[in-house]
Amino acid sequence: MDSDADHDVVIVGAGAAGIGAARTLAGRGLKLLLVDALDRIGGRAHSIRFGDWAVDLGCGYLHSAERNGWAAIGEGLGFTIDRSDPGWDRQYRDLGFPAEDQREAGAAFDAFVARLRADPPASDRAADALLPGSPWNAYAEALSAYINGTDLAQVSVRDYLAYDAAASEANWRVREGYGALIGAALPEGIAVRLGCPVTTIDHGGPVIRLETDAGTIRAARVIVTVPTSVLASGALAFRPALDDRREAAAALPLGLADKVFLAVDRPGEVPCDVHLIGNPHSAETGSYQLQPMGLPLVEGFFGGRAAAMIERIGQAGAAAFAIEELAALLGNDIRDRLTPLGGSAWAATRWIEGSYSHAMPGMADRRAALAAPVDDRIFFAGEACSASDFSTAHGALDTGIAAARAALATLLPSPFSPPPPDR
Ligand SMILES: Cc1cc2nc3c(=O)[nH]c(=O)nc-3n(C[C@H](O)[C@H](O)[C@H](O)COP(=O)(O)OP(=O)(O)OC[C@H]3O[C@@H](n4cnc5c(N)ncnc54)[C@H](O)[C@@H]3O)c2cc1C
Repeated sequence: MDSDADHDVVIVGAGAAGIGAARTLAGRGLKLLLVDALDRIGGRAHSIRFGDWAVDLGCGYLHSAERNGWAAIGEGLGFTIDRSDPGWDRQYRDLGFPAEDQREAGAAFDAFVARLRADPPASDRAADALLPGSPWNAYAEALSAYINGTDLAQVSVRDYLAYDAAASEANWRVREGYGALIGAALPEGIAVRLGCPVTTIDHGGPVIRLETDAGTIRAARVIVTVPTSVLASGALAFRPALDDRREAAAALPLGLADKVFLAVDRPGEVPCDVHLIGNPHSAETGSYQLQPMGLPLVEGFFGGRAAAMIERIGQAGAAAFAIEELAALLGNDIRDRLTPLGGSAWAATRWIEGSYSHAMPGMADRRAALAAPVDDRIFFAGEACSASDFSTAHGALDTGIAAARAALATLLPSPFSPPPPDR
């Protein structure tokens, strides 16, 4: 450790990336500290309980599950991984979305993605590959809202395709909650300081000084895992300024996704684990999972403009919107059987302020620019740093592991130092 530093490594942000970094660094005799602005760990991985039921306000699906690092960690920790298919590509009983329309809408979206691949627009703007006047453009925008958290006009084709090429179709779930799994993965014995926003990282001297309301933390190495929203706004600043990081973060803004939960009365009369899209002809519609994993509730998922609308009208309004869309599909009797339980408001969540990153058109290369270390002393991680698994919890994990290994290499240059653990 540099003689005046209090810590070998300080990790800023206790989400999936920060916890991944902490797991890689723990048990090596290093003095570590994990700090987070919020008064809980997990960041965008956040399970809450309604009585006996665990639900996720943030990440819920182990995407690309066969190679998702959290699946093995979760199994090792005794979590129950549900491998069943959530059935997103099937509208329950074709309600409000006849089978023929589902086929057409799916084919139109597949053709859109094929055009992105075969004949990408020079603008790198995904919306420019839509066919003008196609009846399924609103459907494609609804999918973009779920996948990217924003309109196709805001999405880089190169970035989208990098994710698409790397992702698999396997989307598993965690019965006890994905957020609970990620929180449980925090290694024992690591010092954690919560409710402690870092406002400035001063890297002008031999020791890095992290300024917080509760005083200065001094570190030899820092791993920064905060969301791009925080870097772009300057809520976390660097001295000397790192303008390239701020610009990269601004080019990788967070899209928005939110969830609404409704309890189901007489659950035996409602099908388990089936999917409904509220209105396939609107970009501002909910995606509903009825009784996911058999839990007696509905999980409503809103992206992009629909999520912004949900936050604007508040939780009671959001539940009313969801019930309205469900009643239009399942009949009016369902109204009295659905009770609002709560939901998320990620744009309004201080120190996060959005859901997951997308690259603006022409900006896909900013992910690598954001992830590059500074002077081999400041390392960057977090979902936005992943070249192809961005916007996910496993992508965040992998960037946290990579940043920790890079930091470790600068601290333990000896060929005799222990090899990093696999995860
Ligand atoms: C509604 C929703 C649904 C999602 N669904 C899925 C899904 O199904 N599957 C999936 O894989 N992913 C999903 N995601 C995305 C996934 O949750 C994120 O990509 C991942 O959790 C991000 O982890 P991270 O460590 O990069 O960032 P975060 O979890 O945001 O962690 C960063 C931490 O930094 C802290 N911080 C910020 N500023 C400061 C500061 N100045 N000082 C100290 N600490 C600070 C924050 O409080 C936060 O805890 C979803 C997200 C949302 C919101």
